[in-house]
Amino acid sequence: MEGGRRACVIGAGGFIASWIVAKLLDRGYKVHGTVRDPDDDEKNGHLNKLPGAGERLSLFRADVLDYESLVPAVRGCDVVFHTACPVAPNFEDPDAVLKPAVDGTRNVMEACHKENIKRVVFTSSVAAMVFDPNRPRDQIIDECCWSDPESCRKSQQWYMLAKTESEKLVAKLGDDFGIRVVAICPVLVLGPILQSRINSSVGILANMMNGSKTSYPNSYYPLVDVRDVAEAHIAGYEDPNASARYYCVAYSKHCKEMIETLKEDFPQYSYPDKCEGETPGISFEKISNKKILSLIKEFIPYEKVLVDTVVSLQEKGLL
Ligand code: NAP
Repeated sequence: MEGGRRACVIGAGGFIASWIVAKLLDRGYKVHGTVRDPDDDEKNGHLNKLPGAGERLSLFRADVLDYESLVPAVRGCDVVFHTACPVAPNFEDPDAVLKPAVDGTRNVMEACHKENIKRVVFTSSVAAMVFDPNRPRDQIIDECCWSDPESCRKSQQWYMLAKTESEKLVAKLGDDFGIRVVAICPVLVLGPILQSRINSSVGILANMMNGSKTSYPNSYYPLVDVRDVAEAHIAGYEDPNASARYYCVAYSKHCKEMIETLKEDFPQYSYPDKCEGETPGISFEKISNKKILSLIKEFIPYEKVLVDTVVSLQEKGLL
């Protein structure tokens, strides 16, 4: 019975992690959430307000760069969800993302090994799949695709490199330590925010509505709701058949179509009206979501994803 299970969520205050924590609590799990600063109420205060948190959530102060801080957090858990990684379109200083992503993942896995944890679910990204300049633009991305580390380095795509190297490392250490690792690789994650500050991916949607952009790219956005991403993580642990990596994508929508959908429901905002060129790289016009559907069965409807995102931003005074 899941009621007695104990899970650790590394980086619990983040956008995706907060939903993993909420859903675990809702299912009756005891949850250990790691945050870098439990006293930072603005960043992490929402966690203590989640239903069930009072009885079953314990926050641990831990930094993924500090191995010792992780050990007590993972101790006694049936599963560790490792989500922590700085997120930005790119980083000036490679170490700002490579160190927490790669050294941080090694520390998390070593702490799991020390505490005899046998299940890890790792939050990777489409960033670990998509960047390979030798791949044809119209190739459909799926679980076989990896970003090419050398090309990432040459193009200084440090976030893509960090996600690629950290996902490869977590899989290798899983093999070395006898830990079953499942990696979830989401695309652009939208949906309602639980935390009080806007995160990077939801910021992309907010920037389509707040007048900060006059034009939009002539490109498709692959997207998925954060609640489905959280479900995928939990199924990645609970489903005994879950294995390896999952490309976590629900829809692909042209930017123009997203703006039109948003305009219908929220005409009061200021939208870009000029279409620019195509963004370079893979076209996401077609997507492959067969494998992820084996974990989560159905996706939250597209329009609801957008509406719920916007309503949550309005409720928090962020739009
Ligand atoms: P987020 O809200 O910015 O959360 C990032 C989390 O990482 C925060 O909890 C942050 O903790 C934590 N973190 C960063 N550096 C850390 C460190 N040194 N030690 C401990 N924690 C650290 O971003 P998110 O969108 O939820 O992203 C979560 C994960 O999903 C990341 O691995 C990201 O690569 C992946 N992902 C996100 C998307 C998306 O569209 N959102 C898509 C694909 C993959 P602090 O609060 O202490 O800074």
